[in-house]
Amino acid sequence: MTGLALSTVPVRPDARRRRRRFVGDCTVRRNRLFAGPAVAVVPAAVFFALIERRAASGLTAGSVSGPAPRPAEPMPPKEHRMPDATHYPRRRTTGGRPAPASTPAAAPRGPGGRGRRTDAPLSPRGTACVIALDVGGTGMKGALLDRELRTVVAERRPTPRADGPDAVVDAVVRALRSLEREAADRDRAVHGAGVVVPGIVDTDHARATYSANIGWRDLPLAAVLEQRTGLPVALGHDVRAGGLAEARLGAARGARDALFVAIGTGISAAIIADGRLLSASGYAGEIGHLVVDPRGEPCACGATGCLEAVASAAAIAAAYTARSGTPVSGAAEVAALLTAGDRIAGAVWQRAVDGLATALAAVVTTLAPEVVVLGGGLAESDGLLLAPLKRGLERRLSFHRTPRLVTAELGDEAGSLGAGLHAWEAVHAREAARA
Ligand SMILES: [Zn+2]
Repeated sequence: MTGLALSTVPVRPDARRRRRRFVGDCTVRRNRLFAGPAVAVVPAAVFFALIERRAASGLTAGSVSGPAPRPAEPMPPKEHRMPDATHYPRRRTTGGRPAPASTPAAAPRGPGGRGRRTDAPLSPRGTACVIALDVGGTGMKGALLDRELRTVVAERRPTPRADGPDAVVDAVVRALRSLEREAADRDRAVHGAGVVVPGIVDTDHARATYSANIGWRDLPLAAVLEQRTGLPVALGHDVRAGGLAEARLGAARGARDALFVAIGTGISAAIIADGRLLSASGYAGEIGHLVVDPRGEPCACGATGCLEAVASAAAIAAAYTARSGTPVSGAAEVAALLTAGDRIAGAVWQRAVDGLATALAAVVTTLAPEVVVLGGGLAESDGLLLAPLKRGLERRLSFHRTPRLVTAELGDEAGSLGAGLHAWEAVHAREAARA
């Protein structure tokens, strides 16, 4: 398959087989619910849609990346090695002017308006930068980042998801070009771009495998963006990029084994094991679909009692509404009711905490992280979540290495910072290949 068209790109047979196998493994019950040839396709779409609700909720994201398949350059290692700490001291805040308002630009095609060539050797310290872009289901967060990951300039713009995947790719191209012009205005040389997206992302092959939220399938996204912008593009996954950023610059810095859990409309995790970000072809970290209550609520993935059906922000709000008969706007309102002494809110919250503790105990037993970083909207209810979750986790552990449980430090910047880390890592890999 050589074409670069977007929604017209056919799903590779091996990719389809992989998804079917995954869905088939996920639950037996699904096969009873959805008999017939469409069995694997329909629930798979639902499942992947679930995975991506995180992005729609504005959660921090995360990802692994690899440089796109450029013939003259070596492919990245199968797993993502943590960048050399000497390249990235702890992040300091901005060195640039405030982020401008989001203004979709009518960017020219071709090289006009670009800064200096990106494939040149690294420019002198102080002028080199990369473009970082976190593409979410509702909005994009972009930035120019210098070698110390300081923000030179940042901008946000909407994701035109409703207009289809081609429109989203067009918008990504416009965002990259806009930031490249910002660099040129500041006489900075752009050495590459890191782009992180939701869904299933195969960073080994720089492909956006599936995104129900945005609508692309098996898209060689890095190659498409490189072709249209002339920039070297490292592709990554939003949640894993957020986890990488927290591990390098935020709450998990210094840890060789860490877990970053994004809790929002959905639940997902980034796994850092022995200093490497685990990708598993894009399928690692879906802890939202660990079953924590086999007699619990059905999950849209087809299983019953998944963590996400118990402890996601959406599940907490739905459970409160179901039990009280009173609609609530979201989990934050349930948290407020809990603080005010509402008994139903207390019961719903405790069940979510128990589910999270059960799931984390399983992950801690398997991966033994030194630190577990909680990110996303729900984690911001700090004392309401962290303290009871610590107690619940400790009750479930014995011989284990008990991890520190902390809240994320980078907020919704984590995804774009992770994209910047991917971009710089690709720059350093190219430099090393040239040396
Ligand atoms: Zn599930």
